[in-house]
Amino acid sequence: MTSHTFPHRYPIIDLHCDLLVYLTDVPDSKLDNIAEIGCAVPALTEGNVKLQVMAIYSATAPGSTRYAALQRDMFAQLATNTSCGLHAVTTPEQLQQALQNDKGIGMVAAVENASGFCEEDEPLEDGFKKLEKIIEACGRILYISMTHNDDNRFGGGNFSDKGITRDGQMLLDYIHGRRIAIDLAHTSDALAHDILTHIDKERLDVPVIASHSNFRALWDQRRNLPNELAQEVIRRGGLIGMNFLRHFLSSDNPEALMHHIMYGLDMGAQDALCFGADYFYFADSPNLDRFPYYFKEHEQAGTSYNFILERLQNTLPQDQLAKLAYGNAQQFIQRLWEIR
Ligand SMILES: [Zn+2]
Repeated sequence: MTSHTFPHRYPIIDLHCDLLVYLTDVPDSKLDNIAEIGCAVPALTEGNVKLQVMAIYSATAPGSTRYAALQRDMFAQLATNTSCGLHAVTTPEQLQQALQNDKGIGMVAAVENASGFCEEDEPLEDGFKKLEKIIEACGRILYISMTHNDDNRFGGGNFSDKGITRDGQMLLDYIHGRRIAIDLAHTSDALAHDILTHIDKERLDVPVIASHSNFRALWDQRRNLPNELAQEVIRRGGLIGMNFLRHFLSSDNPEALMHHIMYGLDMGAQDALCFGADYFYFADSPNLDRFPYYFKEHEQAGTSYNFILERLQNTLPQDQLAKLAYGNAQQFIQRLWEIR
């Protein structure tokens, strides 16, 4: 067995990137510009990524829904362009095919911040109509994160202590049974707890994930999951996507990503851990203190996943590597999408 090349053959599913923001917001952006974004198409191809979740991101600010609509339309445009290397994956059959063949990179949309479909000052009903327009244009969305870093009408973001609002509860009620997961990656701890409480109290069919978060016990950052929330996601059969950003790993140790993975496994996340690398365009970012945004080993999709799988090869059994690479995400998505 040629064990040192074995991980090359794993397909990869990744739960989060900001390619749509890059393509709609950055002048002269190009799908194949690896120098500007780590999830450019050639990098995804080289990294054997078979399903990439495309975030539709917006900050909470006036015009947020117009900003998100550009990304919605970009997704639809990429999905219909047969020569761009990307194709939409919205059914269990398409997911199966995407993982098995070499015909490009599958993609599915997700909403990072509900402000992308509902402005702060418009009727909630109008927001739900815009959510439907996103679902229709993209074929489906995998998950919704209610908030980003700040508060909005739905609840408290990462840098807040605010919990859920009435609108947040109504959003959960609205997506009940719609086969859309709720994402805890950008909630305050209070909002995450309130989301779980409301789902349980109302017996809602809304799966829970953390699409691109690491563990706060290892690296104390509000974007990382405290143990009790990580355990809730695991207990509910959700996913935890490992984030490659240095800011959520360690200031100086590239091995920290491996430590987060091992920590998750020790906690019981064998069936929950996956990748949520979080590649985005950062050249226009004002946060110089966060530079470099990624460790060299993780900076682009062409080499990062394989590097991690190879580093873990002597530590973890092959079936666990396969689960991390794609198996857990595949299982989750198939369960979510299949006819019941
Ligand atoms: Zn994010």
